[in-house]
Amino acid sequence: MKVDFLIIGGGIVGVAVAQKLSGYALDGVLLEKEAELSFGVSKSNSGIIHTGFQSPSRQLKTRLAVRGNELYRELAGNLDFPFIPTGELVVAFPGERKALEAIRENGEKLGVPGLQMVDNPWLKENEPNLTDELECALLGPTAAVINPYETVYALAENAQANGLRVFCNHEVLAIEQGPDTWKIITTEGTFESRLVINAAGLYADKIARMAGMEVPAIVPRKGEEFILDKHADRLTKRVIFPVPQKYTKGILIIPTVDGNTMLGPTAEETPDREDLTTTKSGKQFVISQIQRLVPSVREDQIITSFAGVRPTIKEDDFYIQEDLEGFINLVGIQSPGLTAAPAIAEYVVNLLSVKNLLRPKKTVISTRTAIPRFRRLGGEERNALIKEDPEFGEVVCRCELITRKEIKEAIRRGARTMDGIKFRTRSQMGRCHGAFCTMKIMAIMAEELGLPYEAITKRGKGSELIKPV
Ligand SMILES: Cc1cc2nc3c(=O)[nH]c(=O)nc-3n(C[C@H](O)[C@H](O)[C@H](O)COP(=O)(O)OP(=O)(O)OC[C@H]3O[C@@H](n4cnc5c(N)ncnc54)[C@H](O)[C@@H]3O)c2cc1C
Repeated sequence: MKVDFLIIGGGIVGVAVAQKLSGYALDGVLLEKEAELSFGVSKSNSGIIHTGFQSPSRQLKTRLAVRGNELYRELAGNLDFPFIPTGELVVAFPGERKALEAIRENGEKLGVPGLQMVDNPWLKENEPNLTDELECALLGPTAAVINPYETVYALAENAQANGLRVFCNHEVLAIEQGPDTWKIITTEGTFESRLVINAAGLYADKIARMAGMEVPAIVPRKGEEFILDKHADRLTKRVIFPVPQKYTKGILIIPTVDGNTMLGPTAEETPDREDLTTTKSGKQFVISQIQRLVPSVREDQIITSFAGVRPTIKEDDFYIQEDLEGFINLVGIQSPGLTAAPAIAEYVVNLLSVKNLLRPKKTVISTRTAIPRFRRLGGEERNALIKEDPEFGEVVCRCELITRKEIKEAIRRGARTMDGIKFRTRSQMGRCHGAFCTMKIMAIMAEELGLPYEAITKRGKGSELIKPV
């Protein structure tokens, strides 16, 4: 297949670039090695849309985070994904005020709006669960939280509505440079494209090398996160940061989109790009750090945990460059990559604009509607939905109140695995971890996709839930 642009990687960065490029009169494809989009780093992070003021203003990643934060507001409105403007507080114990003043100065230089120093009485009134021992805090009202995979799917659906073709289960194996085009050889066939955007996350250095380019090597850095039971009180209304350290923003308190509190992430280099294990020591470290900020938090309030691996590079910045004609490498897109993604897309379009290839499409679909979320609605709205379609009245996942209609809609929009359904609907994410709903969802998938149960997988080939005997 011959196209104008080809994106390698279906995480937040790849789909943000795809969504932006789908507004131009170009024929484009996105290739993803996993069974679905958002199965890489973009599925396991803190979901914070940072203000950007905590990283040095000279860094590209900082400038793109500040811009990304601005862009998300409009995107969330247009593409109908949750964006909760929680705001954030960087809290300081006695002796840390000077460091906080420096962060504020940096933020003001970057143009982060609304920064404000608040004192101990303000904290007592507005965040009563925080320890009394804090002296002051820096309030950044523009921070927000999103659900990362819902955002990926929203951007991808909009790009697809504008003509992008997505190929999952297509692992890029080799890349050859021709006179005018790049040849991309995958597990499922060969593509030819004039432009290639390498957004392969943890594997971006390997992809660049396949194409004959040397880019900074990925240094994987694992982060473990711990989620508290919904029945435990929200610890804080805002995202809470301690004063940051050299390589990490510290252990945070994160109120999630779905009403839980998340604690983390840790930061530890690992040789294994796929190391998604969580550990007892990680849990104990996180709890001990959070107890300094909220003394009442307890380890037994944790209901689940996960880990993600940051694709960092030694230079500790994003590396975004067209290293050979028509081939753009996006390497080292670690935190705040989720925040920066829409701005990275803008940056890539700017790099391409000199080529005189980008002609805006005559008609662009700029909106997208989310799957209705039964659980997020009030009584009247729920009744109206059931009246419209009785399948909204059939609850499949009891813990999270997810209906048959939502599962079917997730499949209609492209979900092909149990995790794909989970990420699109939140089914299987409650207290019972899917014990009650797994078989029911499998039955719906078998019926909708015409598949035998043995072909239904958790996250792609090799993760079948039922093995034939
Ligand atoms: C613990 C943790 C917490 C974080 N918290 C935040 C936060 O709160 N806010 C924030 O802004 N950022 C945060 N980040 C960073 C953020 O998650 C990443 O910057 C972002 O998700 C990177 O997206 P991506 O699209 O570049 O990578 P990915 O999501 O990994 O996408 C790359 C895709 O490329 C695919 N791929 C790889 N090789 C191939 C191949 N050969 N062929 C085809 N496809 C291939 C992969 O399967 C993958 O799906 C956090 C990261 C971690 C780990």
